[in-house]
Amino acid sequence: MTVKLYYKDPYIRTFETTVKNEQIDEQGRYVVLHETAFYPTGGGQPHDVGTINGVRVKDAQEVDGEVRHYVEESLQSQEKVTGEVDWVRRFDHMQQHAGQHLLSASFEDLFGYKTVSFHLGQETCTIDLDVPKLTEEEAKRAEESANKIVLKNTEIISKWVSPDEAQQYPLRKQLSVSENIRLVMIPKVDYSGCGGTHPAFTGEVGGISILKWEKQKKQVRVTFVCGQRMIDELYKKQKVMETLTKTLSVPEENVGEATKRLLQQTNDQEKTIDNMKEKLLTYEAEKLVATPHTVGHNQVVQLISYEYGMKELQKLAKIVLNENSSVIVLLISEVGGKIQIVCGRGSNLTLDMNLVLKEVLPVINGKGGGKKDFAQGGGEAIRSAEDVMKELLNRCTVKV
Ligand SMILES: [Zn+2]
Repeated sequence: MTVKLYYKDPYIRTFETTVKNEQIDEQGRYVVLHETAFYPTGGGQPHDVGTINGVRVKDAQEVDGEVRHYVEESLQSQEKVTGEVDWVRRFDHMQQHAGQHLLSASFEDLFGYKTVSFHLGQETCTIDLDVPKLTEEEAKRAEESANKIVLKNTEIISKWVSPDEAQQYPLRKQLSVSENIRLVMIPKVDYSGCGGTHPAFTGEVGGISILKWEKQKKQVRVTFVCGQRMIDELYKKQKVMETLTKTLSVPEENVGEATKRLLQQTNDQEKTIDNMKEKLLTYEAEKLVATPHTVGHNQVVQLISYEYGMKELQKLAKIVLNENSSVIVLLISEVGGKIQIVCGRGSNLTLDMNLVLKEVLPVINGKGGGKKDFAQGGGEAIRSAEDVMKELLNRCTVKV
């Protein structure tokens, strides 16, 4: 068993010890020391990183009471070593972890909402509350209550106890182990079995801020940050707000209103643009209807466009056919290396437009289809739109 210095004193950052052995497993090369201050992943708290004799420790895991320090280089030839824990990371974990105790205690003591899981993430932390919903008022009160305990600067005590001794405390949760029981106690606030690292006083948590909550199946997931992460979060949000106030040219308190107004304007403008497009298409269709070409025995309305999409071509064709039921419509658009074709004919004619289209599509490696009176398709612009139009026209000369 490795002697766990982080349980003796969670504030140990540097320590001297000797190497027990070095081995390689599926995760890589690891070193086992006689003593360590490196906390291995466990109880919702991520592992420490740091260095051993200057060699980087990228991971720490506990297996059968031994802490494996995954190192980037071999330490085999070295007997005496100095370990150094990345303190910024570890202290951050201590702040988040202790903050979670306080927040969970507040939710439970105020409303009876039990915490069923905890995740300490890289940027934020979450707890899952065993309730179907959480109100703004409840979240606010729990946050306030937890922050009051931070301000009280209550001592956080950890203690190894026997199962009998453990039962003398008002434990928040049934213990998950029956031996090597470690209790973390914040007198009058929280008594929990916990193997993590915590600061000595609640004041060191610095503060707790709930960022959001959302339904997660039958529970509510509360996202929060503590200590330095609160400052980082505030800075991040201030930067976002700065961009918003500058872009919208409004003071902070009007950002919400201004954004709503802007979205409404955009919606209105989109509607106007749609209306104008519609009018433009009708105008274009009328112009086309007025100037049909005689092709063999038929009257053909044709257009090559370098801007319309399939939707516009279809609309255009339909307007033309509504105006004149004795014409053939051949519309092609060439946009972004693609060719799209719409061909149709009025109800007074019988030419099979689907067949016309299918005969021409191979010319552009295209796909498509439709009905005898109206068909559409598209392919690659490997032939010019003019060529494709000629191919279509050649098939529309017969009397039908
Ligand atoms: Zn804990």
